[in-house]
Amino acid sequence: MIAIDGPAGAGKSTVARAVARRLGFAYLDTGAMYRALTWLALDRGLDPSDGDALTALARTEEILLSPADSGLRVSIAGHDVTVEIRASGIGDHVSVVAAHPGVRMAMVDAQRRITGSGNWVADGRDVGTVVRPDAELKIFLVADLDVRAMRRHAELSADSMRELVDVRRDMEARDRLDSTREESPLHAADDAVVIDTTRMTIEEVVDDVVDRAAA
Ligand code: C5P
Repeated sequence: MIAIDGPAGAGKSTVARAVARRLGFAYLDTGAMYRALTWLALDRGLDPSDGDALTALARTEEILLSPADSGLRVSIAGHDVTVEIRASGIGDHVSVVAAHPGVRMAMVDAQRRITGSGNWVADGRDVGTVVRPDAELKIFLVADLDVRAMRRHAELSADSMRELVDVRRDMEARDRLDSTREESPLHAADDAVVIDTTRMTIEEVVDDVVDRAAA
C-alpha cells in the first residue's frame, strides 16, 4: 500500500497513476470520490453544507471506479461523471462536502474496503493519516502555491477560460478549508516522506517514489 497525500496541484494524481503503472499496482483516486458525491448532491439540488443530507447520500450511493486509458472512469447513481467532476463548479463546493464527518466516515469505509486486498497506490488528503495509516510507504507531496496554480491552470486551459489568478485564489481557498477542517484535516503523517515538487519534473518525482517503494 502506497499513500500519496498533499494539497491541490502538488502532482499527486499524475505521480500516483504513473507509480501504479510502473509497479503494476492498482490506483485509487480518493478525491474523485468526494468530487462524484459533490456532483450528485448538486444534481439533486442539495445544499453542500447540509451534513445530514450529504451523509445519507454518501451512505446510499455507491461510487464505481474503473481503470481507463486516461486514469479512472468514475460513476455514481448510474451517471458517468468522469468529465463533469473536473469542472470548476465541483471544485468550488467539494471541500465543503468533504468536511462533513459523516461523509468522511462513509468514504473512508469504502476506501478501506476497496484497498483491502491487492497492491494499491492511493492519493488524497488523508490516505496515510486516516484511510490506511498502515501503508508501507507514505508520501506527502508539496509545492509552492504559484507553481501549483500554474500547473492546474495549464491542465484546465484547453477547455476553460479561467484566469490564473482565479485558479490560484480558488486553490488557496480549498487548501485553507482542507487544512483547517476539524475532521481529518490535511497534514503529513509523522512517518511520511515529504517531497517538494516545486522544481522537479513528474519523471523525477515518479523515479523517487518508485525507488523508495523498491528499497
Ligand atoms: O484530489 P482532488 O483535488 O480531486 O480532491 C478534491 C477535494 O476532495 C479536496 O480539495 C478535498 O476537499 C477532498 N478530499 C478529501 N480527502 C481526500 C481526497 C480529497 O477531503 N482523501
